[in-house]
Amino acid sequence: MTYWVDQSCPDRARWNEAIITEAIRMVTSTYSRNGRAADDPTFQSSFRAVFGAQQDDDHDYRTPGNFWGTPFQIVEYISGSISLLTPASNQVSSNIRVYCDYDPMVSTSDPNARWKLVPDRVGDPTPNSQKTLGVDQEWYDQINYMRRNTMTLGCQSVRPGRTTIMETFGSPIINLNGYNAPNDLPYYRSVISLCPTVFNRRLSPMVSYQDVPQNTAFGAIPNGLRNRYFNWPLSTAFAHELRHCGPFSLLDSAGPYSYGWLNITKMTTYNGLSNADSHMWLDILAELESRQYKLNPNAPVSEGALVYDASIS
Ligand SMILES: [Zn+2]
Repeated sequence: MTYWVDQSCPDRARWNEAIITEAIRMVTSTYSRNGRAADDPTFQSSFRAVFGAQQDDDHDYRTPGNFWGTPFQIVEYISGSISLLTPASNQVSSNIRVYCDYDPMVSTSDPNARWKLVPDRVGDPTPNSQKTLGVDQEWYDQINYMRRNTMTLGCQSVRPGRTTIMETFGSPIINLNGYNAPNDLPYYRSVISLCPTVFNRRLSPMVSYQDVPQNTAFGAIPNGLRNRYFNWPLSTAFAHELRHCGPFSLLDSAGPYSYGWLNITKMTTYNGLSNADSHMWLDILAELESRQYKLNPNAPVSEGALVYDASIS
């Protein structure tokens, strides 16, 4: 699989693809530690904390992308596939397309506008043009041939108390009012929109996971993984979005309760394996493990307390 970055993404020092390359590196860390199985007991504990299942649980689960496997195999397949992501030479051939145009959804005469209103269907008693944007009105991305869930406006979403950092559009157009994507496009393709917050240093101060304080005992950070330090790095947010892309097609499986350490520890194994954020937290734990931190085995999992362990390799 490949990714491609649109020229709408500014080439600034703070961007510079660091987000993408570090996200791939973190997911690769998950893949390699998962593959060590019983030779990596710290990772096995992290796995159990995130998914509520043993890493060697032999039950099969089905992911939203229709992959069947044990929890180990699901993590292996998804993280292994992401670890192989490489830059594409052009947009047409790429599987994951990254945009920073902030998803403008306004009626315009510009024939090249990315988002276009789906034309009214003949005889439709409730024509699309008269529906409500962000509720039930359909738009499509005519550059990438993607549909949009009518409930989301991507970067234009305004939700009380929540800022959209990034949004993934993962539904390729298949016969939209008789309109189809060209045959030569990859079957699996997704668009990840990076929103203004990504480029606002005040709102998202950390690009990289390396920005999380390294010389502090993480166990001394109040609330451990529940401290918002761990939600800030943009690379981790991108690792979350990558899980929404086809063929993985993971969900935010508990709606507004899909995000954050406390919420993901409350999920069933099935919902956790289907949930993008749960996989991201496994990346974070793999990353912390490389700094010889692990979940405190003597504290409740939901607290996310961390301890230093010099024996971790
Ligand atoms: Zn998500």
